[in-house]
Amino acid sequence: MTELLRTLNQFEIFIKNLNSSTLGFVPTMGNLHEGHMTLVKESLHNNETTVVSIFVNPKQFGPNEDYKKYPRSLGDDLKKLKKIHESSEFQDQKLVVFAPITTDEVFPTGFATTISVSGLSDKLCGLARPGHFAGVTTVVYRLFSLVRPQKAYFGQKDYQQYLVIKQMAEDLKLGIQLIPMPIIRDEDGLALSSRNQYLSTDERKTALLLPQTLDQLRKIIKEEMWEKAYLKVKTKIANILESNKTNINCNWDYLEILDALKLTDPDDESHTVVIAGALTVGKTRLIDNRIVEIRNV
Ligand code: AMP
Repeated sequence: MTELLRTLNQFEIFIKNLNSSTLGFVPTMGNLHEGHMTLVKESLHNNETTVVSIFVNPKQFGPNEDYKKYPRSLGDDLKKLKKIHESSEFQDQKLVVFAPITTDEVFPTGFATTISVSGLSDKLCGLARPGHFAGVTTVVYRLFSLVRPQKAYFGQKDYQQYLVIKQMAEDLKLGIQLIPMPIIRDEDGLALSSRNQYLSTDERKTALLLPQTLDQLRKIIKEEMWEKAYLKVKTKIANILESNKTNINCNWDYLEILDALKLTDPDDESHTVVIAGALTVGKTRLIDNRIVEIRNV
């Protein structure tokens, strides 16, 4: 049976009494789709107990962002989780959903701590969304300290988020193994995201510019030797960003090619790069990326 816990007290009692050799954790903000479900299935496959948290974290939204309208659908989320859990594959595993009934369960009045990771948090999304990653690392640390899992599962759709949390876990020696999972996409190539439902039919077509552009840039790196490819990609990115001024339907917040581990400009030691983009279509900001190995020979 899938168990639902809604208060901190209930959850702490559950963890205290848990007698499981392996515990996997999947933190989410709910409105679950197949992207989330692959993380849940991977955890169920590899752990005796899986905790899924569903919590829309106010600390990671800026003052003019979509915290209030962020889609919340706990009933449907639970149905999806139960359906997977009850399939014959996972009958011996335990699945527990922690969906705090109020923000206070996680951040009670007087909560005054911020956890932040410098460097990695300051690039890409960190520039457009000041304080966003500190909000993410603070909630993830808080949840890690409650759940105390051996493994935690994160999607590469939010690649920078994964790197920032990995750095936090290593710096603070949390003893939690982070498992990155591939990006799940719709048939047309758009990465699944809870925010896709904000898009009108026309906007959704425009949004395909994001995965298609990343694919074109990836193709160049795959086909050409690195030095030539890098120059070509940088020129193409400059041209694309130049077109921002004339495009009224959508706007590139960033489009960059960086070393995939350090998020700095690629250098002689880089083996893998990330091509990362954030595109605002109408009022909806979408992110996506491609991780590509460099071809030197
Ligand atoms: P969120 O609910 O958006 O905070 O996401 C919770 C987790 O699901 C994060 O680790 C995300 O990276 C992951 N996730 C969201 N969308 C996708 C996707 N399309 N493919 C893979 N993982 C995803």
